[in-house]
Amino acid sequence: MSFITRLSWFFKQQWGKYAMAIALMALVNILNIIPPKMIGNVIDQIRTGTLTGEELRQSVLLLIGLALLLYVMVYIWVTTLFGNSILLEKLLRGRLLKHLTKMSPSFFQRNSTGELMALATNDVLAISQTAGYGVMTLVNTLVGTAVVLVTMISLISYKLMLAALIPMPFLALVISMLGKQMRKRFVAAQTSFGRMNDQALESISGMRVIRSYVQEEHDIDTFDRVTRDVMEKNIRVAAVNALFHPSISLIVGLSYAIGIGYGAYLVFHNQISLGQLISFNIYLGMLIWPMIAFGEFINILQRGTASVDRLSKSFEQQPDVQDASPTVSLPFPGSIVLERLSFRYPGSGTDSLNEISFRLERGQTLGIVGRTGSGKSTLLKQLLRQYPIEPGRLFLSQTPIEQIALSQLRGWIGYVPQEHLLLSKPIWDNIALGRPGAEERDIWKAIEMASFQQDIGHLPDGLDTIVGENGVMLSGGQKQRVSIARALLIDPEILILDDSLSAVDARTESAILANLRIERTGKTTFIATHRLSAVMHADWIIVLDEGRIVEEGTHEQLMLLGGWYKEQFDHQQLEANLAEA
Ligand code: ATP
Ligand code: MG
Repeated sequence: MSFITRLSWFFKQQWGKYAMAIALMALVNILNIIPPKMIGNVIDQIRTGTLTGEELRQSVLLLIGLALLLYVMVYIWVTTLFGNSILLEKLLRGRLLKHLTKMSPSFFQRNSTGELMALATNDVLAISQTAGYGVMTLVNTLVGTAVVLVTMISLISYKLMLAALIPMPFLALVISMLGKQMRKRFVAAQTSFGRMNDQALESISGMRVIRSYVQEEHDIDTFDRVTRDVMEKNIRVAAVNALFHPSISLIVGLSYAIGIGYGAYLVFHNQISLGQLISFNIYLGMLIWPMIAFGEFINILQRGTASVDRLSKSFEQQPDVQDASPTVSLPFPGSIVLERLSFRYPGSGTDSLNEISFRLERGQTLGIVGRTGSGKSTLLKQLLRQYPIEPGRLFLSQTPIEQIALSQLRGWIGYVPQEHLLLSKPIWDNIALGRPGAEERDIWKAIEMASFQQDIGHLPDGLDTIVGENGVMLSGGQKQRVSIARALLIDPEILILDDSLSAVDARTESAILANLRIERTGKTTFIATHRLSAVMHADWIIVLDEGRIVEEGTHEQLMLLGGWYKEQFDHQQLEANLAEA
């Protein structure tokens, strides 16, 4: 039942097409009754010597006409029904992607990529098969069986029919047992398939690291284990699957034996005619398919239900960051104020941010520095609202950030994340990601501000160079500058650079920073970095350690303070001077 309730939106939407397909299928089943009856009649007429040439000609023409009519009707219901099933497949994939785009990082921490891919491929396919093939087998079972039984009773003999159907209850029993097994084993197989996807993704994307540490053998072994598990689980599915057909054939065979044995007895005792016996056996044969269809229906329904349950589990997960209702709309983000903001990652035992407070006016630049793991990225992610935030701790223009619509907030921010994400598209498209219709002039300006223009000459197709998956074609510093150009193109109210200059040399870094100072006057900028020279000119600098602010001030103040900042700064200057010398 859960299959129908979970997909009721689709069945409601497509009920017209389903009604037509089902009506045609039923009609085909009913029309199929005619030929065996005609054959039985003709045989009886031959036996009694009453068959005329004219009658035979009529019967043959009728059979041919019927065959043509059935041809057209079958074509129409097959295309309608399976068209629906393909449509469902498409709709489900679209829904899934839309759902995923709303999810926050913690969702992807809980659900692995491989598992989500398994949902989008195998599970969606199983569901669409149930909505197509499953419906077909169900209708055939119900209508086919009913029509044949009614005909047997009314045209031949109810006694013979009852006798022939004695084995049928066993069929129902066997099929329901097999169906239960099928569902259990299918879920296990799909889960295992998801794990294999994960392993394959990791092996392929990590190939370069794996090879450089000579771990190919180990990786192949691991993959072998995973694929073996998928194979074993699928063999267990196939084993149940294989039992469906023979069980049905066995029981139908018994029916045949009874039909022929008891039927012949009835003919001898003149209770039915020979023609009727032949018609009866053809009808019995016509019961095989509905019986098989019943088995197939249970089989495919169990798979579809297993998959629809898996998919629903994913759909039921709500994004943990959602818009407040109602949201407050701001014309622009003014001051940014934090009041003792603490934060802990979901599932983590310790706070990654501890009572952070600062105030930044519109147009100012904040430098965030500190040892690795001190919470710099975590702090920036709070502005992006990637995780639920403690209410009343972070304000934009005096408005709590949780009351601002996410789309408005994110529209203001240009974010250059620490781990660069490029799409396997031309560089041009990667830069224009946030403003697809951007003018050429603006794109070139963003490129210049990110100091990327001198690199374009070295790329095979200039800006049309396709960067490969996650930018494999580019150097680390090039990737960083493409990401920066992307963020600058949208000329954001708030620019967030998370360690975005770590892979460029000192000269390029200072060129980019100088450009930023000019271009970003009047707009707010956050710079998290390990290289302190990048924040020298910031209006305010905070030094984090284990999620707390341990020092803060302007560059000059921090140098006078003589703490971690001064020590690091002097150290880095010394290194830079040595490198230059
Ligand atoms: P780096 O300079 O290396 O970029 P960082 O200052 O940006 O370091 P964060 O990435 O903010 O440091 O990490 C701060 C702390 O939060 C670390 O102890 C880290 O282990 C933890 N952390 C980061 N991301 C998660 C996560 N998704 N779940 C749980 N803990 C996390
Ligand atoms: Mg970081």
